[in-house]
Amino acid sequence: MTSPMQPDLSTMCANLTLADVDDEDLTIQITDNTTLHAKTDDEIYAVGRLVTQKPVRFAFFQDTMARVWMPSMGVNMTELQPRKYLFRFYHEKDISRVITEGPWTYEQNLLIMKRVQPGEDPESIPLTHAEFWIQVHSLPVGFRSEVVVTMIGSFLGTLIQVDDRNFDGLMRMFYRVRVAIDVAKPLKKQMKLKKDNGDWAFIDFKYERLPTFYFLCGVIGHGDKFCPKDVDVTAGKPYGAWMRAGS
Ligand SMILES: [Zn+2]
Repeated sequence: MTSPMQPDLSTMCANLTLADVDDEDLTIQITDNTTLHAKTDDEIYAVGRLVTQKPVRFAFFQDTMARVWMPSMGVNMTELQPRKYLFRFYHEKDISRVITEGPWTYEQNLLIMKRVQPGEDPESIPLTHAEFWIQVHSLPVGFRSEVVVTMIGSFLGTLIQVDDRNFDGLMRMFYRVRVAIDVAKPLKKQMKLKKDNGDWAFIDFKYERLPTFYFLCGVIGHGDKFCPKDVDVTAGKPYGAWMRAGS
């Protein structure tokens, strides 16, 4: 990991002579970059990307997220690239809560977060998928089973978890699945279920904590100004705010 711009730390140390610790000349400036490559087991990191093309002021972002998360042992953030950040946590509970309670948003923009595994380079972790709780609505009586809900979850993306309370004996208006979805693809809003006996049904999806997305193309992270697709603006909006749970 040594380059001409970053002198190797051991070479630097070899040139040091022992002296009083108060001596200012013997202070080594450790850059964030150096500590990044010298990870130990108790260093807990996550990497994140804000899904937007808009400029983001890092200082504001950092302040807001620290206030929202309130990690008991604090969090340290580094901007790796515009809209891409490294988060250092100091307690296992803090990082697992932040990861499992996502998705988080900053100014309505989705923040995709992934935990950095020991030895992993945070820059090489793909940040293309985000986990959402998706509600399955209008599931008819004959289709209400754990197996069907699991199949629906796998249709939506990578199934992470099925809500334990889905079939706890109480009457439900909807069933919940946690799914990792590819944020570059249009959100799925409906699907058709068919049984061997010919029965079929349309079911609807609502997303919990759904950030900004474009109602014409159904993709998270932009409005009309930044949409790369050539969508027909006169044809009406195939997607809408009704895809947000609670609306
Ligand atoms: Zn678009």
